[in-house]
Amino acid sequence: MENRRSGRRGIALAAALLLAVLALRETNAGSGNAPGPALDAAGDGVRASESCQVIQTMGFTRCGHSVTRRVRIPQELAGADFREVQAHYSVWRIGKFAADQIEMDREIPLFCPAHRVLSVSEAGEIVLTWNAYGDGMAVEKTYEDRSVGDFTPEEQEKLLSGMGFDTREDAEAWLQAH
Ligand SMILES: [Zn+2]
Repeated sequence: MENRRSGRRGIALAAALLLAVLALRETNAGSGNAPGPALDAAGDGVRASESCQVIQTMGFTRCGHSVTRRVRIPQELAGADFREVQAHYSVWRIGKFAADQIEMDREIPLFCPAHRVLSVSEAGEIVLTWNAYGDGMAVEKTYEDRSVGDFTPEEQEKLLSGMGFDTREDAEAWLQAH
């Protein structure tokens, strides 16, 4: 009896959820049809030309530098509209969308490639890293004679979040002094 009752309650709950989902989908469809602020960058009916230039600006929040690169649009995106291009570059924010030029930017919470960064590896080693991929750090050197325990709690905290230096020499001079 108890089981049957809770079963009925379950069905009622499922039905209510389904209605809620349907209502939500309708709302989404409605707002999708209306011109929203997110689509301001896209001219109506504009499509990327075959020779369209893509200008990508990466802002590195750890050092404040930004790097811009200009590439030709991938050929599979020739003729694509704003939505198709945005779907392809899902981590980017498109600020300008024209047939011959698309501008996009993104913030990356790392140092830019111009720095060397002392940090702590997942294995707990002191390592020298640099931004080799734009959005990912690569280990350049592991200091096997050093360990996290050599440093004060404040220094450890800085190392864990990554300490940026202009050069490898600067990073190693800091290591030797601590
Ligand atoms: Zn930088």
